[in-house]
Amino acid sequence: MSEQMNYGEDYKFIPVTSVMSGLGQEVTSDIYSLTIQVVNLCMVGNTNHSQAWTLIDAGMPKSADKIIHEAENRFGTDARPNAIVLTHGHFDHVGAIIELIEHWDVPVYAHELEIPYLTGVKSYPAPDPTVEGGLVAKMSPYFPNEPINLGSHVKPLPSDGTVPSMLEWNWIHTPGHSPGHISLYRQSDGALIAGDAFVTVKQESLFKTLVQDQEISGPPRYLTTDWQQAWDSVKKLSDLKPQIAITGHGMPMKGQELTDNLTKLAIDFDVIAIPKYGRYVDGSQN
Ligand SMILES: [Zn+2]
Ligand SMILES: [Zn+2]
Repeated sequence: MSEQMNYGEDYKFIPVTSVMSGLGQEVTSDIYSLTIQVVNLCMVGNTNHSQAWTLIDAGMPKSADKIIHEAENRFGTDARPNAIVLTHGHFDHVGAIIELIEHWDVPVYAHELEIPYLTGVKSYPAPDPTVEGGLVAKMSPYFPNEPINLGSHVKPLPSDGTVPSMLEWNWIHTPGHSPGHISLYRQSDGALIAGDAFVTVKQESLFKTLVQDQEISGPPRYLTTDWQQAWDSVKKLSDLKPQIAITGHGMPMKGQELTDNLTKLAIDFDVIAIPKYGRYVDGSQN
């Protein structure tokens, strides 16, 4: 390895879990969603090609062994993705990425606005423990927010919307939760990998997170810094009329249930998603 990669200094195992932790499910024949504690990652590709699949997001801190094991179970012992694509760089989506890069020696792609947070240049704003939204928000100062440094292993996504190694897919800029947040969309079957642009479990409730009680919701509140952008992003995704959505937190949602809930979220985002109070709500951002 030509250069040193490192996690932020506040990187650590986070003791949260859910009933879905460790479970994987085939959402379509070529999309496998795996839950690591409370966050989902996806393996996209046909199982008859052990080296022609892509990993979307990289789980929680200290979960690399589990991710590699699951990949080998699904794609065979020589399983190795051709790339890792990140929806964004929050700790719960890049938790195992350095070990995975070292193990697989693969390129990582992220939106160019997210690259500073992945190359040690910028820290995300501190999570807001004062935001309306219960226990997980109160725990959030404990979450890592210092930047990791992946050096030259991370590259910007092509500006034309294509996704390297994912031929049928396009990336869509869905900022708000983070500046360079992206979602991935495949028009042929309406499959959407939405990251944290919206989620299907109310992440602020420790109980609902634990039991994965299904409820469409805006992005996790304690880390979202631009609510107007976040609303615009949900409208953009709703306009696509996706048929299947896999979100960063919560269970996949499909069909009419997805259409109804996402339409409602796009219309009533101010009521459903935007917290009534919190550091990043009034737009002052400090
Ligand atoms: Zn996030
Ligand atoms: Zn997340």
